[in-house]
Formats: sequence, structure tokens, C-alpha cells
Amino acid sequence: MSPKGPFRRTANPPVERASTVLVERAEDLYRPDRVNYGRAGLAAHDELRAAVLARTGGAGCTLVSSGLAACTTALAALTKAGDHILVTDSVYIPTRRFCEQTLKRFGVETAYYEPHVGAGIAEQIRPNTALVYLESPGSLTLEIQDVPAVAAAARAAGAVSVIDDTWAGMSRLRPFALGVDVAVHAATKYPSGGSDVFLGTVTSASAELAARIETHARCAGASVSPDDAYVVARSLHSLDARLDRHEASARAIADWLADRPEIARVLHPAREDHPDHALWLRDFTGATGLFTVLFKPLPEARLYAFLDALEVFALGFSFGGFESLALWCDPQITRNHAEWKEQGPLVRFSIGLEPVEALIADLEHGFAALAGS
Ligand SMILES: *Cc1c(COP(=O)(O)O)cnc(C)c1O
Repeated sequence: MSPKGPFRRTANPPVERASTVLVERAEDLYRPDRVNYGRAGLAAHDELRAAVLARTGGAGCTLVSSGLAACTTALAALTKAGDHILVTDSVYIPTRRFCEQTLKRFGVETAYYEPHVGAGIAEQIRPNTALVYLESPGSLTLEIQDVPAVAAAARAAGAVSVIDDTWAGMSRLRPFALGVDVAVHAATKYPSGGSDVFLGTVTSASAELAARIETHARCAGASVSPDDAYVVARSLHSLDARLDRHEASARAIADWLADRPEIARVLHPAREDHPDHALWLRDFTGATGLFTVLFKPLPEARLYAFLDALEVFALGFSFGGFESLALWCDPQITRNHAEWKEQGPLVRFSIGLEPVEALIADLEHGFAALAGS
């Protein structure tokens, strides 16, 4: 709700369901300063965009139909035939697929860089490098990138930097303060918090980039349901409070798991044993509820017994909802740069809002099943 706006009787915006937007007079039909078609969004969309900008400090925000659409919208809006782009090797797999299948067809060449490259990215930037794409922590494997160093090198070379900032949930990282140009978020995850809506945001540090992205999205026909925009706008009010709980529970469970004999390593950037902990401490203001655990090598059937025995944790993709999730990740791990060398299976946990004791009891149950009892 805008504190300075006109008085409104409801705390939340109206859900205006409209394709056609009616105008009073013929002269209003083509006014450039008004929304003249529902595809561009109405009250709930305005409220959501304003809330995202207030949170992120961006200059402009484009709403799209999913988190993946946010990633692909930024990539498509900011590249052209003949360009080269640099993408972190730890990138969300569907984003990699878009680069390989769609961008390639349009004459954009993608090269993948090792996520710990830091300022060394400068050596990989070519005269035609238009964009450097970051994701920190990396999907599944949670490498923390030196975001300011990569963003500065991109800017110095005249390339745009884009970060997939989904893990930090529009709360635990300030990408624009770190020099990044564009941030994409799957609002599907923590901003929504309900596991029941798809929505993506593309937010830019400058009005110029925001206009390029919005123009591309409008030309491409991007549109978001007013109900979905409403749900996310409403849920953003509780985001930080939810994240505090997700963070505290996940930290407690990560520490508990680290002491289990079945576990080789816990990949959680807020733990001191994470290889990139110092970078995380420097750049992030907190953690969220998502981390990954490396099991000691074991037969697949024992891992399945562990996962199938869980009753509080559900099995499934995505994260950021109220219910805790577990996911075996290995089939998704893709690397162009360096092989993923770890021996045991990787399991990702999204810690929800249930009591920690119930989640730990559930994991104990899982470990008993793993042991065959
Ligand atoms: C989930 C996710 C996306 C895609 O979001 P959807 O709304 O599911 O399409 C993009 N990037 C990251 C890092 C994600 O975790």
C-alpha cells in the first residue's frame, strides 16, 4: 500500500480482471501515459512493481509469468545476433537450456565460466561480450560468487551484468548496491511463499535498462494474471518475517545434519565450513531456508529409503514455500567447465515453517530407514 496515495478502504489492491480497459473519450484511446490494454497490468501489478522496487532499490521492474521467464526475458532483451555472453557454470539448468537452444538459434554464443572466477572474468570478456550472467549461490551446489568483482569487470568492459538472485529471496542480498545492473527473481519461491503461484520479476538498476527490458516483454506478449500479482504483492508483506524463520530453522537443521555420520558435507554458505563463507559474510545480510547436503557414498536404494521414509518433508522441486521439501539433485548437475567431482549423492533441503523438532524427528526416521531398520 502506498502511504502517500489516496485513501483506500482495503489494505490490499483491487484485483482488476480485464483484457479490455475502457476509456471515457476517444482522445484517451491512444494516450501514451495510460494503460490501454490489460496485458500490461492494472492495480495489483502496479502495487507489486512498486513493492519490488522499494525492496530492491531498482529503477524499473518488469513482471513476467514465471521465474524462468524472468531469466529468459533478461537474456533475450539484452542480447542480439553476433553477441557473446558469459554464464556461470552453476546456473539454473533451464536457463542453460535457453542459452543452448534458443539464444544459439538467434546467433548469440554462450560460454560458461567457473563460478569462483571473480575479477578473473575480465580475461574471458571479448569485444562482443554483451552480458555476464551470475547466480549466487549457484543452483544446487551453492557456490558463492564474488559478485562485486564480476559486476565491476563487466561494467568496465561495457557488458551488462545480470544476476539470478532467487535464493536470497529479494531480501538477503542488495545486488544493485554491489554494482549489478539487472536482477531476476523467481517470485514463485520466497516472495510468494505458498507453492501455488508462478511469477517472475526483472528489476534494473537504471531506467535505461528497465525500458529495454519492459519494451522486450511488451513486444513478446508477457502478461501476468492479476490474481497472481495480487497473491505475491500480499505475500511480500510477510516475506522478511517468514525468511527469519526459514533461516533460523534451516541453520539449526544444517548444523544437526553436519554431525550425522551418514553426511560427508553440508553445503550451507552461512556455516563456517562452507568454502565461500567469507564472501557470503561480506555480501549477504542473512541466509534463507535452502541448502544442500552431500551424503557419504551409498547405494541408490538406501538413499531412496531415506527419502521415502520422510513424512514431514515432502519430495518435490522448487522451494520457498511453507512446507519443507527434499530433493535428490544429482541427475540435474551439469558442468561445462569442471566436472562435479564429489562422490556421494546430493540432497537439497528447503526448510519450511514447521517446528524444527518435527523436522529433525522426521530426518531421524529417514536415517533409520537408510540403515535398513
Ligand atoms: C525456481 C528458479 C527459477 C525459475 O522459477 P519458476 O518460477 O519456477 O520458473 C529460476 N532461477 C532459480 C535460481 C530458481 O531456483
